[in-house]
Amino acid sequence: MTHQERESWLLDTHFHLDLCPNPVKMVQEIEAAKVYTVAVTNTPAVFPQTLSLARKTKYVRAAIGLHPQLALERESDLPLFRRYLSQTRYVGEVGLDYVTSVKSERRVQRRVFDSILGDCHASGGKILTIHSRRAAADVVEAIGDSFPGAWILHWYSGSRRVLQRAVVAGAHFSVNAAMVESARSEALIREVPLNRILTESDGPLISIDGVVATPMMLGGVVQHLASWWGLGIAETNSQLRENARQLLE
Ligand code: MN
Repeated sequence: MTHQERESWLLDTHFHLDLCPNPVKMVQEIEAAKVYTVAVTNTPAVFPQTLSLARKTKYVRAAIGLHPQLALERESDLPLFRRYLSQTRYVGEVGLDYVTSVKSERRVQRRVFDSILGDCHASGGKILTIHSRRAAADVVEAIGDSFPGAWILHWYSGSRRVLQRAVVAGAHFSVNAAMVESARSEALIREVPLNRILTESDGPLISIDGVVATPMMLGGVVQHLASWWGLGIAETNSQLRENARQLLE
C-alpha cells in the first residue's frame, strides 16, 4: 500500500461477498469505491470461488472460514480448511455460537474452533474475524493471550468484563451499522481503546432502513464513531486507517 492510498481508504473487515445476489457486480462496485474488503466464507468448500473473485482485484481479500453454526455438519471439512489456510492471510467467519443450548453441539463447535486456532498458531500472522454470540468468554479463553496474529471480534455483544479481558489479550473490535443503532453496543464500544476499533458491514446480512449493507456504506458507522469519540470525520477516518494499517502490517 503506497502512502497516497493510505489517505483515502476504508476497511470492511467482515463482508459476505458470496451471499450477494451478484458477487461479480459487487466486486466491481468495491473496486470503484476503493474499500479494502475482507470477503468471509462460511465453509471451506466455497472458499475457492471467493478466492478466484478476489484474485483479480486490488481491494478484495478472500478469507477462509467455517462458521460455528455449520461446525456440526462440516467438522469433516477441517482438513480442507487447513489446506486452504496456506492460500490466504485472512480467516473468517469462525468462532463460537452458543445460541444452541445443546452441550454436545457446543463441544463440537469448540473442538472445530480449537483446531482452526491450532492451524493459525502453526502458520502465524493470520488475521481472524470472529463470531462470539453468547460465547464471548469461551472465545477469548480459546484464543488466549499470546495469539501469533491479529484477531477481530466481529459484532461483539458479550459482557464488559470479557471485553476488558479481550482488550488486554490484544483483541480488535469491528463495528457495523446495526451496532451503532444499539445503546448496549454503544456502551460496549465506548470502552474499547480507539486504536482497537475497526469497521465492518456484515453485509448482505444487515439492512439499514431496507437497504442492504455493503462495504460502500461504512460512512454511517464512521459518523457514529466520530460523535462518540468527539472527533471530526477526517480525524476519525485517519484513526481508523491507522488502526487498519497497523493490523495489516
Ligand atoms: Mn457474518
